[in-house]
Parts: sequence; C-alpha cells; structure tokens
Amino acid sequence: MLKNKTALITGSTSGIGLGIAKALARQGANIMLNGFGDVDGARAEVEALGVRVEYHGADMSKPAEIEAMMQAAAAAFGQVDVLVNNAGIQHLSLVEDFPVDRWDAIIAINLSSAFHTTRLALPAMKAANWGRIINLASVHGLVGSAQKSAYVAAKHGLVGLTKVTALETATTGVTCNAICPGWVLTPLVQKQVDIKAEALGLSNEEAKKLLLGEKEPSGQFTTPEELGELAVFLCSPAAGNVRGVAWNMDGGWVAQ
Ligand code: NAD
Repeated sequence: MLKNKTALITGSTSGIGLGIAKALARQGANIMLNGFGDVDGARAEVEALGVRVEYHGADMSKPAEIEAMMQAAAAAFGQVDVLVNNAGIQHLSLVEDFPVDRWDAIIAINLSSAFHTTRLALPAMKAANWGRIINLASVHGLVGSAQKSAYVAAKHGLVGLTKVTALETATTGVTCNAICPGWVLTPLVQKQVDIKAEALGLSNEEAKKLLLGEKEPSGQFTTPEELGELAVFLCSPAAGNVRGVAWNMDGGWVAQ
C-alpha cells in the first residue's frame, strides 16, 4: 500500500516508534529512522523487511537539528509522505517540585518538535496533494494523572496541534490524526514499573499488575504491533476522511 512512499518516524530506535516503522515498512514504505540508543539494531530490524532505510540522529529538542533532518530526508528520498511524530520522554514529579529543565525538555521533545517537523513537511505534502501526519499523543492527551504535569500539558497540546493541522488541510489529500495509547510496555514505561517496584518492595510482575490495575480495565498492555496496525489504517485510502481525531487504544482507560 505504501510502495514508493517515504515515512519519517521520530524516536524510532525503540518501543512504539520502532513498531510503527516496521508496520509501515511491511506496507512497502521506505523509512527514515531517528532516535538514540541501539540505532544499528533498529536499522537491521527494519532493513530485514526489504525496504530502504536511512537514519538521522537529530535531537528533537533542537529546532536546527530537526530542520537538518527534514532536509536530509528530502535529499535522500525526494520527500516525506508519512510523518510520525513519536519521540517522547517522561518525568514524574509534583508540580511544585518539577525540575524546570525537565519541564522545558518535555515540552520541546513531546510537543514543539511536532510543530517543527509538521511545518517543514507540509509544503511538499500539500504540493503532492497527499500526506499523512500521525502524532503519538497518549491517553494523557485526553485525561490527566498526578505527577505528570509537563507530559500531560505536552500531550494535550499535541492533540490541539493535531486538530488545527487537520483543519488547515481539510480540503486536501493530507490528513493529520493523533494516536492515544494507554500503557505500552516499552523502556519509557518499564522505568515507571521499576520506580513502583522499588518504592513498594514488589517484584517486576507485581508492579506491572499494579500499574495496569490502577488505570486499564482490560488489565493488558497495548503493544507496539497493535499501534503499528492503527498507523497503517490511518495511512490507508479508507482513512482519507479521518481528520483531527485523537484515537485512544487504551484497554478502556478513558472510557471510565
Ligand atoms: P521509548 O523510550 O521506547 O522510545 C522513545 C524514543 O524517542 C526512542 O527512540 C528515543 O531514542 C527517542 N528520543 C528520546 N528523546 C529524544 C530526542 N531528544 N531526540 C530524538 N529522539 C529522542 O518510548 P515509547 O514508550 O515507545 O514512547 C514513544 C511515544 O509514545 C512517546 O511520545 C510517548 O510519550 C508515547 N506514549 C507511550 C506510552 C507507553 O505506555 N509506552 C503511552 C502513551 C504514549
């Protein structure tokens, strides 16, 4: 379905971003990876699916590096057809104790980076009259949780950016939507499991059950593979008039 198209996924060296990159590659899209950590491992996993893969190490907190990444993608592939704004970090603290540098980093990486990639990708998408922008928000783009002020503010902001981008492209072949996962067992969430296990003297399994039990009626983690298939649907012709939605995949979290 996505043969001869290019997908750029920020923060795609692990977790949800890597899952989405692989799902889009299975549809034939060439892939621009981004993120830190095990770059070679991520590249090998996506290349094994038989598509062309490039990598750019731009730091999503730095607008000049984001601009360089978008130029590199255009130089390598012609243009970006599918943009997945996925890079994100987390920090837990009460508002009055929240480190100012963590607030600034979360707003920059989880929210402002999507503004920069979107503003830079839109002209070519509009000229081609086709494009897909998918923003990885969160249930925390729809509801709050204590100790996550910066994350919740950034994700609510990302849902807002999604709606405005969708309205500004509504008469074109470009769509913009948000995906809002509940708990997904990635490195970002394993850290929160570890904090709970340590604080309460629980095993890894007990801490995971507690985390799920607090929020998710299904008692199940959503998987990067399931989120990848939702991204594939949003890229499909059937989703051509799905515009500005914030689609939760959360085991019932926000239905409560
Ligand atoms: P993860 O930690 O596995 O992946 C995060 C990715 O972002 C990695 O590739 C990392 O290298 C990259 N990254 C971090 N800082 C970066 C920076 N400054 N510049 C470039 N890349 C950077 O986390 P994940 O759970 O897969 O999260 C992916 C997205 O999904 C995030 O936006 C997160 O908020 C969102 N999300 C996750 C969950 C969950 O339960 N895991 C739930 C809802 C939403």
